[in-house]
Amino acid sequence: MVDQLNRLGIGRGDKVAVVLPQGPELAVAFLGVACGATAAPLNPAYLEKEFAFYLGDLEARALIVMAGDATPARAAAASLGVPLIELIVSSDGGLDLSGATQVFVSQLGMAMADEVALVLHTSGTTSRPKMVPLTHGNLCTSACNIARNLDLSERDTCLNVMPLFHIHGLVACVLAPLAAGGGTFCTRAFDAGQFPGWLEAWKPTWYSAVPTMHQAILAHLQEQSRTCAGSTLRFIRSSSAALPPSVMEDLEKTFRVPVIESYGMTEAAHQIASNPLPPRVRKPGSVGLPAGPGVAILDEAGGFVHAGAAGEIAIRGANVTLGYHGNSEANAQAFHRGWLRTGDQGYLDPDGYLFISGRLKEQINRGGEKLSPREIDEVLLTHPMVRQAVAFAVPHPSLGEDLAAAVVLHAGMDCTEVELRGFALDRLPAFKTPSRIVIVTDIPRGPTGKIQRIGLAGKLKGFLQIDYEAPATPMEKRVVDVFSEVLGCPMVGRHDNFFMLGGDSLRAMQALARLSQSLSMELAALLIFRWPTPSSLASELERIQSEMEVDALAKILEGLSPEERAKLLD
Ligand code: AMP
Repeated sequence: MVDQLNRLGIGRGDKVAVVLPQGPELAVAFLGVACGATAAPLNPAYLEKEFAFYLGDLEARALIVMAGDATPARAAAASLGVPLIELIVSSDGGLDLSGATQVFVSQLGMAMADEVALVLHTSGTTSRPKMVPLTHGNLCTSACNIARNLDLSERDTCLNVMPLFHIHGLVACVLAPLAAGGGTFCTRAFDAGQFPGWLEAWKPTWYSAVPTMHQAILAHLQEQSRTCAGSTLRFIRSSSAALPPSVMEDLEKTFRVPVIESYGMTEAAHQIASNPLPPRVRKPGSVGLPAGPGVAILDEAGGFVHAGAAGEIAIRGANVTLGYHGNSEANAQAFHRGWLRTGDQGYLDPDGYLFISGRLKEQINRGGEKLSPREIDEVLLTHPMVRQAVAFAVPHPSLGEDLAAAVVLHAGMDCTEVELRGFALDRLPAFKTPSRIVIVTDIPRGPTGKIQRIGLAGKLKGFLQIDYEAPATPMEKRVVDVFSEVLGCPMVGRHDNFFMLGGDSLRAMQALARLSQSLSMELAALLIFRWPTPSSLASELERIQSEMEVDALAKILEGLSPEERAKLLD
């Protein structure tokens, strides 16, 4: 692939955006591009304007897409004049790159250890995401740290269910198994329903995932009354968000293998700390022992706290980025005497195990998906009726945190929550759209008069709370029944919000599949995101149903002679 890139005029130091569907081709394209240029994999779910932002911010020299894939990234690249390269998969699985040759300005051949292999964006606390460059040295150090910690060897195969535009997937699920000489089976998309089949077919020895995926797997197995006690798994790894101890216990009971919780971060090329494998001790609720970089706990002034005290977690080591790209302000804030401040709060117990106790940064962690609340504020503020908007985290049983927003309207304006959610959903991908948008007359402030996002969920509890009201129509009853089955929640009211009751995108797909089957209707994937309450969803379903009836009648009339038509309409 390096030769092919060089022939197209791309070389070392050139940032190449990669927008490919999940799967082995993306894993190979990442490895190939990183060997001879800098890979920048982007979330294929982004909208065109997001692609335009990332391509522009990266100053991408090229964009790689799958031949035939109609991704909106193509239009974004065309508008910026970023050359397009298509990835062609031949019948024997070989990969070829096809595109117009550019004027070559870079160095040919394989990259060196100190050159940047990968660039990922973090959702910063400001609206502009920060660009994290990671060198080959950073990535290889991290991959070897993970392989050592998990005692990986050439006999191990990972089952990769993590997206390969996220550091967790790229380093823990692709580079670490390869660093140990083992293999990785890259799935097309995470699907709890297919998980038991993958275990049987591919006989992996481990997998790594975020807690919501583990929960979805457990829920599926429970629903099917299946156990996976005799699988080939040697252990299960969890990272990127806090793993509730009860989920850890259920996983260990179901699979009869140890569950290893680790702490990772893009800036650390993923792994910072990890629980060890048995016979060493795993501590539920802890992210384990430092597993690669040095870990320190700092006070506000940047000094070390006394043993056992809580403070900001700071890291340093060969896996840690040298600094954000082109962002001296962020670097000045984040780096302190060679230590990178993570923005996470925590403490080390007497055995040296790290516990994460909170977060200083504003970032919201929606089931491992990191969101910048200011980006959401800015979108809501473009609504002509909105005067003030503040996005904030609310506790969620399976995601850990979900996203809500409080909005103050301009005087004399009137607007509903459903309208505002629809507006946000038209401008943001579903995973960045708030599950609840409460309309208030004033947003509570902290003692200094500043709006404090952290703690807003508690202060706005009264607005977030929904009083129970029984379903009022047969369609509402049908939706309520499906919500309560999928969410395992006996009392669902007509104004309850699917996401606030514990729903997430995986469960939304399940609910949609059930509704679609029982109504014999094809339903759009985002329907529950747009209409998350039984009352709003039921009215939308009734509208679709009557539209279908009108269409069906028009088709029947079309096929009739004028006399038959007149007779029927009489
Ligand atoms: P990312 O850069 O997307 O990998 O996100 C890094 C952030 O995820 C960290 O700074 C933490 O806030 C959070 N995180 C990662 N692993 C864990 C964990 N095991 N428990 C709690 N939070 C975690």
